[in-house]
Amino acid sequence: MSTFEPVLSRNWNVADGHTLKVYESRGGYQAARKALAMDPDAVVNLVKDSELRGRGGAGFPCGLKWTFLPKDRKETLMCVNGDESEPATFNNRYLIEKDPHQFLEGILISCFATRASTAYVYLRYEYINGYRIMEKAIAEARAAGHIGKNIYGLGFDLDVWCHRGAGAYICGEETGLIESLEGKRGWPRIKPPFPAIEGAFRKPTVVNNVETLCCVPHIVERGASWFKSIGTPKSYGPKLYTISGHVNKQVCVELPLGITCRALIEEHGGGVWKGRKAKAAVPGGISMGLLSAEELDTPLDFESLRKPGCLGLGTAAVTVLDDQTRIIDYLYNTARFFAHESCGQCTPCREGCNWLNRTIRRIRDGGGRLEDLDIMLRQANNMGIMPGTTICGLADGAAWPIKNALAKFRGELEDFIRTNQRPARAVTPLQEA
Ligand code: NAD
Ligand code: SF4
Repeated sequence: MSTFEPVLSRNWNVADGHTLKVYESRGGYQAARKALAMDPDAVVNLVKDSELRGRGGAGFPCGLKWTFLPKDRKETLMCVNGDESEPATFNNRYLIEKDPHQFLEGILISCFATRASTAYVYLRYEYINGYRIMEKAIAEARAAGHIGKNIYGLGFDLDVWCHRGAGAYICGEETGLIESLEGKRGWPRIKPPFPAIEGAFRKPTVVNNVETLCCVPHIVERGASWFKSIGTPKSYGPKLYTISGHVNKQVCVELPLGITCRALIEEHGGGVWKGRKAKAAVPGGISMGLLSAEELDTPLDFESLRKPGCLGLGTAAVTVLDDQTRIIDYLYNTARFFAHESCGQCTPCREGCNWLNRTIRRIRDGGGRLEDLDIMLRQANNMGIMPGTTICGLADGAAWPIKNALAKFRGELEDFIRTNQRPARAVTPLQEA
C-alpha cells in the first residue's frame, strides 16, 4: 500500500513556512513558472483532466467551471471565496495563515489559465490574522515579481487585492460575496446568469474556494494522473478535513479523499472525549445534517455522501456529538443560526427559518407537542420542496438538518417532548374571568 504524502499542508510545520524565502527554497513558484510558459488553455485542460472538484462545499468540477467563461470576453475577474463561514470549518484558515504563498501561486496559475488580470481575495471578517498574513505575502510576491506587470517576463499581468467581509454567512454564497465586494448589502443574485457570464462589476468572473486553488500548483507540477491516483475511484485528490466538537483533539488534517468518518474521529481526532461514545457526527458543515452512530463508517467523499439520508461532503468539517448530547439542543443551535443568517429576500427562507427556530425553541423550553414534529417537517419541506423557490441554497441548507434529524432521531425527540413539559402556568382568578 502506498503511503500518502501530504502536499497542501507540507509547509505547515516548517519554521517560517509562511514566508516567501522559505516557500521558494522548498520549490515554491516553480509550478507557476512552468504554467506561465504554457498555453492558458492547456492549463485549463490539465485541471479539467485532473477532475479537481471544488473544495468549498458544492464539489463542482473546477476545470469545467473555467470553460463556462465566454470565449469572446474582453476582461475576466477572479474572486476567491475565503469567507469560510460554515460552522466548524477552518481548512481555508489554515491554508491562508500557514502557507499564503501556496495560495497565491494557485491564484496566479488559475488567473493565467482563465486570463483574469485581477484577483479579489474575499476573506471572512473574523480572519484578521489571515488578512494580515495575506497582505504581507502579497507585498512580498509583488516585490519579487510573482504578481504585477509582465510576470517572469512572459507578458502576463496580475494584481491581487484582499477584501474583508463584515461577518455575514450569506457573503460566502458566491453572488452574495460579489454584491458585498461591490460595496452593497450581501444579497444573493438570481442565477442564471452565473458569475462565469456576469459576475463582479457585471464582468465574467471565476469564483473558486481557497483550497481548490491551492490544489492547482500541485496538479501543474505533478500532473493530472498523480492527482487522480489519490483518493477513491470517483473522488480524487488530497483533502483537508477539520474535526471538532466532542473529540479529544480538534484538528485540521490532510488525507486522501475517502477516509471514513469513524477513522477520522478515532485516528486523527483522538476519539470521542471523556471516554464516551459518539451519538452522531455532522459530516461537512451544519447544512449537511447528521450521520448517526451506525453510519460512521461512511467514507467522507463526494460520492458516498450522496445517498439517501445524506446531502454531500460539504466542507468536510466533521463535528462530533457525544452520547450525552440532546438532539433538541443540536437542532436549536442549527435553527437559530440559520434564522439569524437568512438574508430575508425570499419568503420561504425568511419565514421558514424563523418559524423553525421558534418551534424548536418552544420544544426545547418544555412547551412542545407531539404534532410539532410533523409541523416542523412541513415547514422544512415548504422551504425547498420545489427547485427555484428561493434565490440561493441557504433555505435548503437550513431545512435539511431538520428533515434529517426527524428521520433519524424522531424517537428521541418524541421522548423529549413527552418527558419535558414545563409545569402549566397557575391561572389567577382574574385571568379566568
Ligand atoms: P452550486 O452547486 O449552485 O454551484 C457550484 C458552483 O458551480 C458555483 O460556482 C456556480 O456558479 C457553478 N455553476 C453551477 N452550475 C453552473 C452553470 N450551469 N453555469 C456556470 N456555472 C455553474 O452550489 P453553491 O450554492 O455555490 O454552494 C453550495 C455549497 O456551499 C453547499 O453544499 C455548502 O456545503 C457550501 N457552503 C460552504 C461554506 C464554507 O464556509 N465553505 C459556507 C456555506 C455553504
Ligand atoms: Fe436570502 Fe434565504 Fe433567499 Fe438565500 S434563500 S437569498 S439566504 S432569503
